[in-house]
Amino acid sequence: MHPAAAVPPPDPAPALSHARRWRTGVVQEAAPDGVVDLGPGYIEPALLPVSLLRDAYAQALAEYGAAALGYGHNPGAEPLRALLAARAAAADDRPCAPEQVVLTSGTSQALYLLATSLAAPGDTVLTEQLSYDLGRQIFRDCALRVDPVATDESGMVPEALDRALAQAASAGTRTAFVYLTPTHHNPTGRTMPPERRRRLLSVAARHDVLIVEDDAYAELPLTDDHTPPPSLAALAGYRGVVRLCSFSKTLGPGLRLGWLLADRAVADRLVSHGLFVSGGSLNHTTSLAVGTLLASGAYDRHLASFRGQLRDRRDALVGALREAAGERPEFRVPQGGFFLWLRFGPGSDESALLAGAARAGVGVAAGSRFGTTQEGAVRLAFSYHPPAVLKQAAQRLTTAWAGSMPRPRIGVRS
Ligand SMILES: *Cc1c(COP(=O)(O)O)cnc(C)c1O
Repeated sequence: MHPAAAVPPPDPAPALSHARRWRTGVVQEAAPDGVVDLGPGYIEPALLPVSLLRDAYAQALAEYGAAALGYGHNPGAEPLRALLAARAAAADDRPCAPEQVVLTSGTSQALYLLATSLAAPGDTVLTEQLSYDLGRQIFRDCALRVDPVATDESGMVPEALDRALAQAASAGTRTAFVYLTPTHHNPTGRTMPPERRRRLLSVAARHDVLIVEDDAYAELPLTDDHTPPPSLAALAGYRGVVRLCSFSKTLGPGLRLGWLLADRAVADRLVSHGLFVSGGSLNHTTSLAVGTLLASGAYDRHLASFRGQLRDRRDALVGALREAAGERPEFRVPQGGFFLWLRFGPGSDESALLAGAARAGVGVAAGSRFGTTQEGAVRLAFSYHPPAVLKQAAQRLTTAWAGSMPRPRIGVRS
């Protein structure tokens, strides 16, 4: 008799031991033991909707059968594109047709697609002074030049964009597009007011240059009385704007599923690329699974609860920093997204701040990663840790930074 038949089979791995698998070699990056990492914009494992997705894949396979495993319709399966178009139309109160939606494998992939399809090596991309550093890396890796344009508290300055475009034209360099994150900006958390949106659109239209609107956090407003303004794409009637959206910040980045919205001509042009003609929809099976969540309302229920969890985390971090640190660093409470942007005032030294954070065992994202800062600054993500851990991290950071902070301008001793 085979010995294995006499003894019970070995215990299978515990079915839902996700924590066990949350390690490098499986996930992109995991903080070393003992470090509270507020650096990357990751979602806390406990907030990732594992069973929701397990059921969604099962339902999609049951509903679509073999069609779920074939090459997908090139721009993406119609059911999800129709739902996403209707969603954009409702949020922006502007019409949007399914033909304007192209499914992507996330915003990173969409940026690569735009950088290779709508730009040529040597072209320039104009960005906000501070912007998503990894987006800039994608542009540079596609041999595009990345030039920052002056930005104020409301976002990119229209006059500065006008000047940059005029200068580029007279120098004979081609501007491929302007890259903006108008809503719940990464890293600063700010949202561009409607008036600024309109003025930037009019400058871009006058110079006939495309705007790429990175809207990764559009569905994550965290304050009840705050609804983000209409997207740039909707304000422009989708003319001259490509808007990039993603499920990475709402359902999970491992899904590698996003969508872009554009006018039909641009959508058709993008989808004519051999990438689609050869491989079909960029993420077919997953798009059908996620489609079932949008159709049933489960996605909206998940979003409501996820936003509540994020809001608790933001409030815990903000509250603990205010209590422990007082006036410095300065920050604005973000109305949405994942990040808190801390500014330490003129004369502050980023490397001292980073060294302090490292001593405190807290990971932070260096402000200079996102562009040139005039002062020491860091970005903290509140998306990856529960409120109690965020409070502790805020206290540890404040203690570590006490020595490296310039004196507050207010609160002079008597
Ligand atoms: C996270 C993030 C992305 C990455 O999106 P994926 O869909 O995961 O590729 C893109 N842009 C910004 C501004 C982000 O913060």
